[in-house]
Amino acid sequence: MSGLFDELVARYKVATIALPKLKAVTLAQWILESGRGTSGLATKHLNFAGLKWRSEMLGFATPVEFDAHDGLDFYCSFASLDAFIVGYWKFLSRSPYDGWEQRAADGPEAFIRFIGPIYNPAVGVYVAQIIALMAEATERLAKATAAPALPPPLPVAGAPLRIVIDPGHGGTVTVGGSSPNNATSPSGEKEKDWTLDIAKRTRTALLTRALHAGINVEVILTRETDSNKGLAARANIALSKQARLFLSIHFNGFDHQVHGVETWIHSINVNKDEDAAFAQIVQEKVLTALHAIDPGTVTDPKYDRKVKEKKLGVLNDIELGNTIAAHRCRACLVEIESMDVPAVEQLFRLHAADMALSQQAAGNRQKVADALADALLAGGGQGGQ
Ligand SMILES: [Zn+2]
Repeated sequence: MSGLFDELVARYKVATIALPKLKAVTLAQWILESGRGTSGLATKHLNFAGLKWRSEMLGFATPVEFDAHDGLDFYCSFASLDAFIVGYWKFLSRSPYDGWEQRAADGPEAFIRFIGPIYNPAVGVYVAQIIALMAEATERLAKATAAPALPPPLPVAGAPLRIVIDPGHGGTVTVGGSSPNNATSPSGEKEKDWTLDIAKRTRTALLTRALHAGINVEVILTRETDSNKGLAARANIALSKQARLFLSIHFNGFDHQVHGVETWIHSINVNKDEDAAFAQIVQEKVLTALHAIDPGTVTDPKYDRKVKEKKLGVLNDIELGNTIAAHRCRACLVEIESMDVPAVEQLFRLHAADMALSQQAAGNRQKVADALADALLAGGGQGGQ
């Protein structure tokens, strides 16, 4: 009997997953894959599912070379039991498993009959073995009472910390002052696509951090697809959700040469000091990430384009729900970099013919998203209401 595995079951029992009815079948899979938590991958790397390393796991796990039963390969190493739980579902969100949600509508067995042969094509009895372990998994989940492996959640008073992330631009037509696209990379990649990618990565990074820290966070994106929304409508989402933070994500474009990070707040502003403090955290975190991604920016201060202010419709206090009496929402807009500069495009591009370069760019976008998530968790601050 593995104490570690009991802890995992206890964490999984209370974890929030998209389809809770899949807990028993996935736990059954982990029982099989990890030998009830006794495998080397499980004990050394908290990888209970034999998850091999895939580039999409960046930010969720770290790659580790490991000699598992089917040979030396790179596998996922997880920082905590909760990181494994989040990482397992991230693994299934990759394209080979597209459609699992629809299959799951027919029940846990339909789900495992769909993913099993993709997961482990070599072993014909794999799915049957998992189904046979479902009774044990169900019983383990029912009995799990062990203390949480992580520190108990911080006390959360009432509502969750709500954060609105606004991927700039979108769609094909101007809506309410929001243009469909502004900056474009030398090869034709569009700002609206980069902002959406970074926004989604930031959401995942935020939720992962919140789960680790036991913080109750709700993240809302102003758009999920390549569509546009007016500037006031974007800000109004913060008002209707009673959000504490609003972050608009953009990329710049000037003259194919000038580049660096800048963060904007509204110049006419009832909570200017709070916005400025939030913007400064965003600016510093993104600049630090840029330094790590692009070491050439470290020595020259010109790449810190600072926190600045102007009248920006998307940061309008009235639309965000801020009044003199109630400073509900802190808001800023970050221009992560100038995507019209060829060297910057190389760092972040969505489409590269070369696989290694494509993975590197995805990793860089992830680093920016991680920096934004850190800034958002640090930017809620005290005070205000
Ligand atoms: Zn923009």
